[in-house]
Amino acid sequence: MRFSNATLPDGSRCDIEVEGGRISAFLPTSPSTPDAVDLGGTIVLPPLVDGHIHLDKTLLGLPWVPNQSAGNQVSDRIEAERRVRAARMVPEFETGSNLVRQVVASGTLHMRTHVDIDNQLGLRNLHEVLKIREHFRDLVTIEIVAFPQSGILRSPGTAALLDEAITQGADLVGGLDPVGIDGDLDAHLDAVFGIAQRHSAGVDIHLHDGGEGGLAQIMAIAARTEALGLQGKVAVSHAFALGSVPTDSATRAADTLARAGVAIMSHGPGGATIPPLKLLREHGVEVFGGSDNIRDAWSPFGSGDMLERAMLIGYRANFRHDAELALALDMVTAAGARVLGLADYGIKAGGPADFVTVEATTLAEAVATRKRRSLVVKAGRIVARDGTLV
Ligand SMILES: [Zn+2]
Repeated sequence: MRFSNATLPDGSRCDIEVEGGRISAFLPTSPSTPDAVDLGGTIVLPPLVDGHIHLDKTLLGLPWVPNQSAGNQVSDRIEAERRVRAARMVPEFETGSNLVRQVVASGTLHMRTHVDIDNQLGLRNLHEVLKIREHFRDLVTIEIVAFPQSGILRSPGTAALLDEAITQGADLVGGLDPVGIDGDLDAHLDAVFGIAQRHSAGVDIHLHDGGEGGLAQIMAIAARTEALGLQGKVAVSHAFALGSVPTDSATRAADTLARAGVAIMSHGPGGATIPPLKLLREHGVEVFGGSDNIRDAWSPFGSGDMLERAMLIGYRANFRHDAELALALDMVTAAGARVLGLADYGIKAGGPADFVTVEATTLAEAVATRKRRSLVVKAGRIVARDGTLV
């Protein structure tokens, strides 16, 4: 099978030959190949990667649910979510599946989802998301983080549930504001890193706490990562603190994070400081992107479109030059793939025939315009056309 008239990310034009679900060759463009799928010069991107999503939280496909948070604190939103969850009549499998179908149609073929676990929910949401992963296994890879949304110490029994979640199929152990939510940095990290060590699992911690207090927690995570030899397997999501401390503090932190192999996830949030993404990258820190909340009790916004997310990240980071927009795109493609440990990723001869075509001619244009995804191709098979699954 041949896809003709492709524009590769480096701007070159070629035909892409596919055999057995993999890219067998890049060939000079040929106008007269019968049965070729003509890409019409659109740019071909590797699959989009959502490094932080919450498949079990979304209400996508249900009638509109107004946001019920009484305030702007994380704890207000946790309470609001409990009320919304108590009222929902549809299993998370259904709404999460709606979201998977929507994101695949926009070109995302890999994701890391956090799944709520606490002493009221138990492993119920994990079981729903494991069903989603199995159901869509031929279409998308889903990495699961066992996420203590209600805290670990504040929700007694959660540590044991997180441990059991890894046994039952979750890939990483999560955490949440060790000081802001649980009020005990060491006890929280003892639980998280203890589970990670027992199962050789990765770690991805939500950290909203800002300022010097938040920075101290990020440094504690980096220290534990290094001490346990977990370099490359640990991420901090949000890390607002890195954007709220003076630049020299952030620079020192960047060097520490790079040495410890701790990645930083940002979704380009409104209403919060974002980490200094370029500074982090220049100092060797892996920075990657994710949607975070999509149409759920936390946020009314979001679509799961990772090109839109790259644009939002770039907008919040005040990116303007093409190289900056390419960095935003890298956060939702190659960098995300590295953090998720996807060894077989990228548009290359011998690589998987997985790609998305965008009606643009450069990477920067793709981010700025978020144009239509004419095709999403998985293992050489067209799985979506013009934003709709086939
Ligand atoms: Zn999150």
